[in-house]
Parts: sequence; structure tokens; C-alpha cells
Amino acid sequence: MKAIVTGHSRGLGAALAAALLDRGAAVLGLARAGNPALAGRLDQVAVDLANPDAVAALAVPGGPLDRFLAGSGAGPVLLLNNAGMVEPIGPAGTLDPAVVARAVALNVTAPLLLADAVIAATEGQADRRVLHVSSGAGRSAYPGWSVYGATKAALDHHARAVAADARPGLRIASVAPGVVDTDMQAALRATPEDRFVLRARFVSLKADNALTSPEDCAARMIDHLLSDAFGRDPVADIRDLT
Ligand code: NAP
Repeated sequence: MKAIVTGHSRGLGAALAAALLDRGAAVLGLARAGNPALAGRLDQVAVDLANPDAVAALAVPGGPLDRFLAGSGAGPVLLLNNAGMVEPIGPAGTLDPAVVARAVALNVTAPLLLADAVIAATEGQADRRVLHVSSGAGRSAYPGWSVYGATKAALDHHARAVAADARPGLRIASVAPGVVDTDMQAALRATPEDRFVLRARFVSLKADNALTSPEDCAARMIDHLLSDAFGRDPVADIRDLT
């Protein structure tokens, strides 16, 4: 089993990478920073996934993806598109254009480019699976999250349309992970109320111990990813599945 995990340096991605290693997968981690706790157990490439040229360079012949996937054999090949950013947060009409463009590049362009590259590189494989890490924000509209919600809705629809392509051996799903105790949650709690009216809700969730740990969430996400049910519904929420 081989798994490519984006955003493996911290948060949910670090827990996903660790869980896959514990289950015997070879793992390639892609993020700007490395993951010192997992060093020596996985391959890591430092890359800014908000730069589409850098993402495309991962997939050139003889490049990092090629080298990692060479000799995959009959085992499953997994792509976990986990890296993401929640910024820009704030009402429409007040957003920094550079941050809007960066969010779309990281949250949408990179996962779509990587999915296509991995699907192309695994043609003929009997078992290949793509997991987009989505969000409830892509399914319900929340104030302050127009860009984040739109990027996650894009992943959901990409999964539906790729599933409709019915490529041999390929399963894909866009799965919301619930509310996970990571730096991203800390950033939400640190956002001023006038930019994010939902701030108090996230402060309460943390105070009430209502956040899932990255490890628990990752275990459930990997159970689902490796199950027969994966891809049956291309848009799912882990809280409804386990
Ligand atoms: P996080 O703690 O902020 O971690 C984000 C990860 O993405 C890091 O490993 C980071 O690595 C990587 N990343 C960010 N910008 C990058 C860039 N430009 N290039 C490459 N990698 C980049 O976030 P998280 O909470 O673990 O979130 C993981 C996923 O779950 C995201 O897609 C998020 O939208 C989704 N999600 C999270 C929650 C939640 O409650 N936490 C809820 C719903 C959905 P580097 O900084 O090293 O690059």
C-alpha cells in the first residue's frame, strides 16, 4: 500500500500519515515544512502547494510522484488531499485578493492537479483511491467563510464528477472530518468577532471539549478510506459513517 498525504507536517494530516504508517503503508508527505516526529519513516518533499507550477513539477516524469509510485505492484495506491487553509475569513467585499487566490490554489487547484496526476500514473492499478478532506462549510453557508466554503464545495463536486467518469479501479470521495483540534481551530478562535461572527461558537466547542483529536479523526478517516464502502457515496461526512 502506498499513500500520498498532503499537509502531513501537523494537524489532521500528521495524524493521517502516522496512522497509515502504523498500518504498513509507504507514505509520501507533501507540505512546506517537514514532520520531524515521522522523519525516517516516510518520504517527505517540501513544496508550497499554493504554487500550481510547484505542484505540476511534482508530477513530471522522473519527479517525486513518479519515483514514489514506481513499482507500486498490486497494492492500493491512496491520495489524501488534506492540506488546506481557512483564510481569508471575513465578509465578502473585504477580502485580500492575494489570499483569495492563494486559498483557491491550495484548496482547489492543488488537489485537482494531484488527483489527475495520480489517476494518470496509476492507470491499470486494480485499487486506487482519492480522498479529498472537505468540510461542512462546503455544504452549509456560514458568514465569513465564502471563499473557504466555495473551495470545499468545489472538492465535493470534483469527487462527484470523477466518480461519474467511472475510471477502472478508481474510488473517490470528498469527506468532511468534523471539528478537529488543530492549529486551524486555534486560528478560528483567534479571529476577531467582526471578521467571523461564528467565533464564539468555536470558542465554546473548545471549552466544552467537543473537538475531536486529530488521532481519533484520522483513525476513522483511514478506516473509511480502506473500507469497501469508500467511494460508494462521493460526498460524505465522517460523523455519519462511524
Ligand atoms: P492545519 O492544522 O492548519 O494544518 C494544515 C496543513 O496543511 C499543514 O500540514 C500545512 O503544512 C499544510 N499546508 C498549509 N498551507 C500549505 C501550502 N501552501 N503548501 C503545502 N502545505 C500546506 O489544518 P487541519 O485542521 O489539520 O486541516 C486539515 C484539513 O482538514 C484541511 O483541508 C481543512 O480544511 C480540513 N478541515 C479541518 C477542520 C478542523 O476542524 N480542523 C474541519 C473541517 C475540515 P505546512 O504549513 O508545513 O505547509
